Amino acid sequence: MNIHEYQGKSILKSFGVGIQEGIVAETPEQAVDAAKELNKTTGTSWWVVKAQIHAGGRGKGGGVKLAKSLDEVKERATAIIGMNLVTPQTGPEGKKVSKVLIAQDVYYPGANPTKEFYVSVLLDRQKGRNIVMYSTEGGMDIEEVAAKTPHLIFKEEIDPKVGLQGFQARKIAFNLGLSGEAFKQMTKFIASLYKAYDTIDASLFEINPVLKTSDDKIIAVDAKSWF
Ligand code: ADP
Ligand code: MG
Repeated sequence: MNIHEYQGKSILKSFGVGIQEGIVAETPEQAVDAAKELNKTTGTSWWVVKAQIHAGGRGKGGGVKLAKSLDEVKERATAIIGMNLVTPQTGPEGKKVSKVLIAQDVYYPGANPTKEFYVSVLLDRQKGRNIVMYSTEGGMDIEEVAAKTPHLIFKEEIDPKVGLQGFQARKIAFNLGLSGEAFKQMTKFIASLYKAYDTIDASLFEINPVLKTSDDKIIAVDAKSWF
């Protein structure tokens, strides 16, 4: 079984993992209300309208759109709700969209550049152990990264007797090239993500992209989970 992005993010948040905040909408009117509410709670004045379907690659298929005004939120939501979304992962028949997630814009400019990463936790069936798989090449299709630049994908094996250790979270943050506040935030992100995965008994939790914001927060922009 898999769940929608907004449900995965809500689980992550309950474990203290930083997320791109969002509110689900089923009509264009609800989408505008959601955008107004997010403006109040997060201060965002741009939004991302994201189709909620059980498949990835939504960006490529036109299911993730930036909106720079409330009118644009309405326009984007009107276009996406009810559409038949075809992505590299849906098959040619596509999937019908009945809900969108109205999400805060997290790519705002600031002191430092933004950076996208890939992080997933999954059961390695051959080893019978959980691993954290991660890469500096976030936002891209991980199969493509594996095919073209396999040296940019790292794996950290978790000993089931002791779980994810502090030094492992630090090693991951280090290998992702982070330092200072972003390093600290990433170690916390990894530890909380692993705890969420382990506690809910998932077989996959994939966050692509994990974003380092311009003010060095580390947050989940997308979430895919399998049970
Ligand atoms: P999917 O993996 O199904 O395509 P994502 O949630 O990963 O869906 O979104 C696709 C891409 O859209 C992300 O890689 C990210 O770069 C981009 N994106 C998401 N939110 C924003 C935003 N607020 N501003 C700009 N780009 C965004
Ligand atoms: Mg994604």
